[in-house]
Amino acid sequence: MKPRFYDLSMPLSEKTAPFPLDTPFSRVETMRMEDGDACNVTVITMSVHVGTHVDAPYHYDEQGLRIDEVALERYIGKANVFTVYPREVDGIPIITADDVRELSISAERVLLHTETYPEYAAFHANFASIEPDAIDVLAERGVRLIGVDVPSVDKATSKTLPAHKRCREREILILENLRLEHVPDGDYELIALPLRIAGGDASPVRAVLRMYAETKDMT
Ligand SMILES: [Zn+2]
Repeated sequence: MKPRFYDLSMPLSEKTAPFPLDTPFSRVETMRMEDGDACNVTVITMSVHVGTHVDAPYHYDEQGLRIDEVALERYIGKANVFTVYPREVDGIPIITADDVRELSISAERVLLHTETYPEYAAFHANFASIEPDAIDVLAERGVRLIGVDVPSVDKATSKTLPAHKRCREREILILENLRLEHVPDGDYELIALPLRIAGGDASPVRAVLRMYAETKDMT
């Protein structure tokens, strides 16, 4: 039987590899029933970019919206999942305009399955990034959110973030660090809501896909 929905979220634990120089996840128990406390309470610390998360435009533009200002409907609704086969340029996989031109896009949200970052517990820089020209092609097809199964839409070594900036210019939102290895290509409903972090530059999300055929008649 087909699952009712797919969970696209990375587990969050001390094992989850952060982006280099970013604050890793840690979790500390501050109250323990085992020690006689009334309940169990834990405190977590991490960069808001650890694990599956959405970037607010403010992350890459001083004037951009903060995460609590982005309209929630941008993160809920029809999404297409596509497997793409990035080509290697100087040994680094890249998603080009030609790669996305052939996709039959029917949704504002597009999730790109690259399989170039299979191990979330160990950071590696050799993941697929997106060329700004490819973002233009997606924008022209009406895409308003790009989700990727890698830690960034830009190269790990990029200091200028051209793909993030092109997304900003084209008013496309960014969802990063998805797990898509168990998800067949197709049409779904995406739900990936950020926490209401006042002034935040990003937020962790619990990203899920529901079968679109089962939800499209819902109000
Ligand atoms: Zn990010």
